[in-house]
Amino acid sequence: MRLGIISALHEEQHGLVEAMQGAATALHGGRVYTLGKLWGIDAVCVLSRIGKVAGAVTATLLVEKFGVTHILFTGVAGAGDRSIAVGDIVVADALVQHDMDASPLFPRFQVPLTGLAHFPSDHTMSMQLLAAAHGFLEHDLADVIDAEQRATFGLQQPRVHRGLIASGDQFMNEINAIDALNAALPGLVAVEMEGAAVAQVCYELGIPCAVIRTISDNANEEAATDFLAFVSAVASKYAFYIVRRYCEGGMESR
Ligand code: SAH
Repeated sequence: MRLGIISALHEEQHGLVEAMQGAATALHGGRVYTLGKLWGIDAVCVLSRIGKVAGAVTATLLVEKFGVTHILFTGVAGAGDRSIAVGDIVVADALVQHDMDASPLFPRFQVPLTGLAHFPSDHTMSMQLLAAAHGFLEHDLADVIDAEQRATFGLQQPRVHRGLIASGDQFMNEINAIDALNAALPGLVAVEMEGAAVAQVCYELGIPCAVIRTISDNANEEAATDFLAFVSAVASKYAFYIVRRYCEGGMESR
């Protein structure tokens, strides 16, 4: 068992590479893959960079060149529903490419010739991530993010959500566009730019995968400002402590 951990941005993975034991790096296709032990788990960490193609090629190489058996994506996302707030955590039960539209030849969102619009995440991995996220919010958050920052970002009572994550090659920053997407995709919890591409690759290669995202912005007109502040100040804390709880829980999937 070998776990591949992908993030799009440095701030989303900060601290994990440093926590690896016996780490060795390999440069391939313009990306640095770091191999080692992470809290007892054989792991490979890599930054995909942004977008669906970046996510897809990174996931493919993790499996085909670095031999990972499971893939976890950890990063930030915009809220996909008005009830979801900055600082909340979302775990995907399925992922969809929201900019895929070959209609009228195929239904909107369906990836042509796969018959699928929604690509599943691995149930066991997702359940373990949900437990790790709850553990983080209940036991770590107050210790690792100080009161001033919790107030700045409104992180008083963050919640964990499970649902549909939509990915596309767009930074979403119009509330009307998010409302329309939310209406078109029941159960939408977040929008981002890589997860559904990774999920498609994993589906095609038969590799269990899971996606966890911290909400950095409301995908509205203030999204760019909120995103930058959240990512530089607190995103890495979420990722680090959630992945630690996940690995210490002894990840496993059937
Ligand atoms: N200018 C930024 C670009 C970040 S793109 C930079 O240079 O870093 C946003 C990243 O965070 C993507 O990897 C995406 O997966 C996620 N994300 C966060 N909020 C998002 C939103 N509102 N819409 C789309 N992706 C979002």
